Amino acid sequence: MLRFQALEKVYSRVPSKASIPHGKISDYFGELTFNDVAMREYLTREAYNKVMNAINKGDRIEREIADQIASSLKAWAISKGCTHYTHWFHPLTGFTAEKHDAFINPVDGGKAIENFRGTELIQQEPDASSFPSGGIRNTFEARGYTAWDPTSPAFILDNTLCIPTIFISYTGEALDFKTPLLKTLNIVDKAAVEVCKYFDKDVKKVIATLGWEQEYFVVDSALYNARPDLLLTGRTVFGHSSAKDQQLSDHYFGTIPARVMEFMKEFEFEAHRLGIPVKTRHNEVAPNQFECAPVFEEANLAVDHNQLLMHLIKRIANRHDFTVLLHEKPYAKVNGSGKHNNWSLRTDTGINLLSPGNDSKSNLRFLTFLINTLMAVHSHADLLRAAIASAGNDHRLGANEAPPAIISAFIGTQLTKVLDHLEMQGKINNDDGPGWNMDVPKIPEILLDNTDRNRTSPFAFTGNKFEFRAVGSSVTCSKAMTPLNLIVADQLMKFKNEVDQLIKSKVGKQAAILQVLRGYVTTCKSILFEGNSYSDEWAEEAAKRGLSNLKSTPDALIKSFNQNVIDLYEAHDILTRRELEARHEIKLDKYTKQIQIESRVIGDLATNHIIPVAIRYQNVLIENVKGLKEVLDNKTFVKLSKNQLQSIKDISEHISEIKDDVTRMIGERKIANKIEDPAESAIYYNRNVLPYFQSIRYHADKLELLVDDKLWPLPKYRELLFLK
Ligand code: ADP
Ligand code: MG
Repeated sequence: MLRFQALEKVYSRVPSKASIPHGKISDYFGELTFNDVAMREYLTREAYNKVMNAINKGDRIEREIADQIASSLKAWAISKGCTHYTHWFHPLTGFTAEKHDAFINPVDGGKAIENFRGTELIQQEPDASSFPSGGIRNTFEARGYTAWDPTSPAFILDNTLCIPTIFISYTGEALDFKTPLLKTLNIVDKAAVEVCKYFDKDVKKVIATLGWEQEYFVVDSALYNARPDLLLTGRTVFGHSSAKDQQLSDHYFGTIPARVMEFMKEFEFEAHRLGIPVKTRHNEVAPNQFECAPVFEEANLAVDHNQLLMHLIKRIANRHDFTVLLHEKPYAKVNGSGKHNNWSLRTDTGINLLSPGNDSKSNLRFLTFLINTLMAVHSHADLLRAAIASAGNDHRLGANEAPPAIISAFIGTQLTKVLDHLEMQGKINNDDGPGWNMDVPKIPEILLDNTDRNRTSPFAFTGNKFEFRAVGSSVTCSKAMTPLNLIVADQLMKFKNEVDQLIKSKVGKQAAILQVLRGYVTTCKSILFEGNSYSDEWAEEAAKRGLSNLKSTPDALIKSFNQNVIDLYEAHDILTRRELEARHEIKLDKYTKQIQIESRVIGDLATNHIIPVAIRYQNVLIENVKGLKEVLDNKTFVKLSKNQLQSIKDISEHISEIKDDVTRMIGERKIANKIEDPAESAIYYNRNVLPYFQSIRYHADKLELLVDDKLWPLPKYRELLFLK
């Protein structure tokens, strides 16, 4: 019996200790990255300056210099024990990909030398035919290129030098998540700098900052391996709730279990060596759920670091006989996992553009960026909704633990008053004269303390940044960051145009800014919501306001794929129609496949694991009833066998319902699989296959309560969630 073998294994575990050196974090922080310190040590001054220009200005690096850099990089990597190198990229699978090559090159005399040339650093040609491309790349034209991204430092993993790269097709189309992200970071920089110039001529560069918070579950690997559903789908498709789960809220911020602590210490150590500034760790709401958050960084780097961290925690967990579950909803009826994306914009002069100031000028600057972000969210709410859509996140959104599928923004009562004031103030005097002394609303002190919070909003302003709270735990942050940067950039450009028009028509600069912002406040009010986003009243109210409530992934994807969105991406040269179509198809296809796999797992487990066990137990009851009949007189028998007969009937009924539903579900799957159009197929799966999951589960979970515990094959929720 797999379940009991697994439990025995768990009970007899000798907890492993974290293998980390003593000493200060600062002693080893970033030692496995080719960071500024390493670059200064290994690069010539000329090469160092060229890399810096590539990072800060996007300059090209010439062949000769690339050779120099490659050779220094190799020397550094070999000094750290590296034997191989790889281009590390983010294909549209959502995972990271790598193909390792050894540094060695054979030379005469049966010997070899370590070699690494500039061309190998700058560009590679991995066989790309098996990555999803949405039809962009024919299999016969399998070439895809990876190209070095110098803005994210090379790092060492498993004695392999990893070089962050973009991934594009032979014909130049993006095949990854990094390429469009980098492009949007570039345009939001340009757009924000232009707007900053109204306030400060010295601003030359604006970076988007991202601080993510990663939630995850851990489960003992023996139990994980005894659950085919966890193994194949990342979530439990069956399992009755444990008598106790999170209702006492005793896990949240509680003491981290000792065994988990050892695992955390080790992955944090490895993360720090890789330069990931992991800072916070704590228990989350659900049992065996945890969170890890770093200090925020430049968005591209933060995205890479999150990808790396997801890889790292899974690997290091295994050393401690744990498996990390990054799925958005591994367990029904307990909280799922998200990944808050805290986002802001920062100037090269050190100013956080979403930080309120304490004089008129900095207040107006703050309001400018705040209101433009709200306008962007207002204009493109569906795009943001689609950005967080996935089969996993569908379980979470709107489930009383995560924001609903309605995109709204929270700014807090204080700021609401500020915006009201801005909207209501009398006629703005067009001639603002010198200085910054117009009626710019004051930002209350209380806001600076960052106290006003709303944890139910999908997109909340939290004092000096926006927190995009609806992002799923398993996906790359670039899915949320790319559209967010794009829509904010687009909005800032529109704003600049409007203000410039007014200035041309002789309106003073401040007055023009105030006037445009005021109009925006009126327009974007419909997405502002301060109440409880989890409530049914909000869903009703949102419908009245005309906001979308897109409950499933296919609905969200289809709604956001339209001419306006294509125009937006094409206007800013981020992705072409063809690239967008390809991505759209990949996302729909992924959804369909995930539901298809889950449906198969449900069918198989129900038929092979659950029904046979239920029948076995039913036979025990039948034998027992027969025995009773033999030994008891008829009257006593009738009285005493009543409950057992009822159990036999109940079990039969559940079995029969499961069998019927599985048969019907397979029938629907067969129809779905004949549909060629990816959108129709995804919708069909969502409407006609998915509903069976719940009904089959209902009966299977009832059987779990009826059948003898000793016979039950799958580790139960109380074991998965509570065993340390
Ligand atoms: P919480 O949301 O858990 O209350 P905090 O508000 O302290 O916690 O911060 C949450 C996250 O926000 C952290 O990961 C932090 O790095 C990030 N963060 C703070 N300031 C910024 C910023 N200017 N830009 C992006 N992320 C930020
Ligand atoms: Mg948070």
